[in-house]
Amino acid sequence: MRRLVFLGPPGAGKGTQATLLSRELHLAHWSTGELLRAAVAARSSLGQEADGYMSKGELVPDGVILRLISERLRGPASHDGFVLDGFPRTHPQAEALAKLVPIDRVVAFEIPESGLIERLTQRRHCPRCGTLYNLATNPPKRGGDLCDNDGTRLVQRNDDRPEAVKTRLRTYYAQTAPLIEFYRQRGVLRSIDASGDPPTVAARVHAALK
Ligand code: AMP
Repeated sequence: MRRLVFLGPPGAGKGTQATLLSRELHLAHWSTGELLRAAVAARSSLGQEADGYMSKGELVPDGVILRLISERLRGPASHDGFVLDGFPRTHPQAEALAKLVPIDRVVAFEIPESGLIERLTQRRHCPRCGTLYNLATNPPKRGGDLCDNDGTRLVQRNDDRPEAVKTRLRTYYAQTAPLIEFYRQRGVLRSIDASGDPPTVAARVHAALK
């Protein structure tokens, strides 16, 4: 069980769990959102193409996403396995992925929509080391808004502001949630309850990989 997809709405905790699991099992962790944000920061042509969609909370076109991820999935870093976080997000992406590599398991993070807006708008990260926090549920240990690791002031993602968050949730239910059925039909889906703190959810992720 080493080629994994984490599926779920924005704010469900996929990124946190993918980070924990990939460190523990020495898997590559590919987050298309992170790769896109790095491309935007580097002002590459791909980043410039993606930026407008991302800041509105809309999906970046499938062709751009496949250019970003295909090489990485075939590359040596993915050889011992990987966790895909935020990809695939559309039916054409799922079909393209199936042609690139076989997927062993898809973990669907289930969480009531009502808590997600709060979870997303309270989310912060360290711009230096990338550690994720939530001011409500997982704040920095020393309080305030400074990173535990390096004391850097935490920042909010552009698209975690309320207008973009609403679009992202709408987009998820319209375009990505149907992939749950796609993977159920292929016999690789396990659903987990994604509410609770990170260690509680991590235990459920482990159970879903057995
Ligand atoms: P995330 O960090 O996964 O929430 O992704 C942030 C944003 O990047 C999304 O709102 C989309 O605009 C874009 N994005 C990330 N992954 C994908 C994908 N697989 N397909 C299309 N757009 C994506």
